[in-house]
Amino acid sequence: MNPSVERQLIVFDFDWSMADQDSDRWIFEVLAPELRRKMKSLKEEVQWTDLVAMSLRELHAKGGTREQIEGALKIMPFHPAMVRAVTTAKAKSNPRTTFLCLSNANSVFINTILKEKGLDTLFDEIITNPAEWDPSGLLKLRRRVDPSGTQHTCQVGCSPNMCKGEELEAFLARHQPAFDRVIYVGDGSNDYCPVLRLRSEDIVLCRTYRGLQRRIQKEGENDGLKCKVGYWGGAWEVEEYFAKFDEL
Ligand SMILES: [Mg+2]
Ligand SMILES: [Zn+2]
Repeated sequence: MNPSVERQLIVFDFDWSMADQDSDRWIFEVLAPELRRKMKSLKEEVQWTDLVAMSLRELHAKGGTREQIEGALKIMPFHPAMVRAVTTAKAKSNPRTTFLCLSNANSVFINTILKEKGLDTLFDEIITNPAEWDPSGLLKLRRRVDPSGTQHTCQVGCSPNMCKGEELEAFLARHQPAFDRVIYVGDGSNDYCPVLRLRSEDIVLCRTYRGLQRRIQKEGENDGLKCKVGYWGGAWEVEEYFAKFDEL
């Protein structure tokens, strides 16, 4: 192990990074495919978090229950190697690892799945869109950045509900001194903004054939991407990286 790395931060995107599916889409594929189809057709017109919130209201109106949504989340694909990888890293004292989740999903989806996997104490912080069950069993979801308040100022192309780059910088500012190393596990185009802010000693573990890889390869050089890049397809490869980081 590299002796200069005593304190590290591992940042996880959730959908298609920690988990092997997209929770926003999955629950409708399981419970109401007609709503999933409708989301696909409205996705260009309606902001994504608002569209998920609207679809949750429609599911509730059709009689969809909290138990059904929780049941769908609990069976969502999640690789056992990912559970092993993060559990092993969390248990090590050298380096000591802080875990941050930065996700465009929502607090209820993420916490329900983490609990099912026995990972409910993994993350030191989960930064995502707020959601809560109301007494009737409706899951009420809001954007992290309230559309009626001050908007984020990102120029990299983050969606209006959240700039993951600004969120990462704010987290790092709250956790001084600087981490010896930051490892970012992501897949989507909205993971590109925080990855651009990583240093040369940091590492992005980028899932292949998705938006983040496309942006890194197309825009990374022009935008001055500084961190090391490791590619992976399945969670077993993330487990491998975690076991031999210093050879990257
Ligand atoms: Mg993702
Ligand atoms: Zn951004």
